[in-house]
Amino acid sequence: MKIGIYPGSFDPVTFGHIDIIERASKMFDKLYVLVSFNNAKNAFFTPEERVEIIKEVIKPLKNVEVISSSKLTVEVAKELGATALIRGLRAVTDFEYELQMASTNRTLNGDIETIFLMTNTQYSYLSSHLVKEIFALHGNISHFVPKYVEDRLIKKVKEEKTK
Ligand code: ADP
Repeated sequence: MKIGIYPGSFDPVTFGHIDIIERASKMFDKLYVLVSFNNAKNAFFTPEERVEIIKEVIKPLKNVEVISSSKLTVEVAKELGATALIRGLRAVTDFEYELQMASTNRTLNGDIETIFLMTNTQYSYLSSHLVKEIFALHGNISHFVPKYVEDRLIKKVKEEKTK
């Protein structure tokens, strides 16, 4: 059985991520989407919320499972029996960081290959960071994330206000 793992922050998941998940799910018998987190990073959604949100928006993809971990990605991959890490590449600007990560992961575990999927050109500019900025400025984010994600962003802000 071919198992792949697609790690990321997914804070929040966007149409760009979903496109990569859909395409990667066709390449493997089983694909894990891994919400990676470390406590130092300032996130909008908790890892549990991010898992919940991704699960909801990728529901039709039956061979995809969503999990979270603060462990090293290669360690999680090894535990799950995954042989490939999936990453998305948008522009040249992604390349340097991704090459560094891929080389580091290969040094940590040479049995796990990093596979890059080129962004769908219609999402090549899209990032979670951009979505949060536009949302904070009350802009329309419906081109960037599913309605469910938009609703969860609104809900989260309301919850934060009542704290
Ligand atoms: P990270 O913090 O790990 O970079 P992200 O959630 O920002 O997490 O991204 C996870 C992966 O998805 C990365 O490989 C990133 O390059 C890729 N990705 C993000 N947005 C897009 C997009 N619009 N198109 C293609 N790949 C993307």
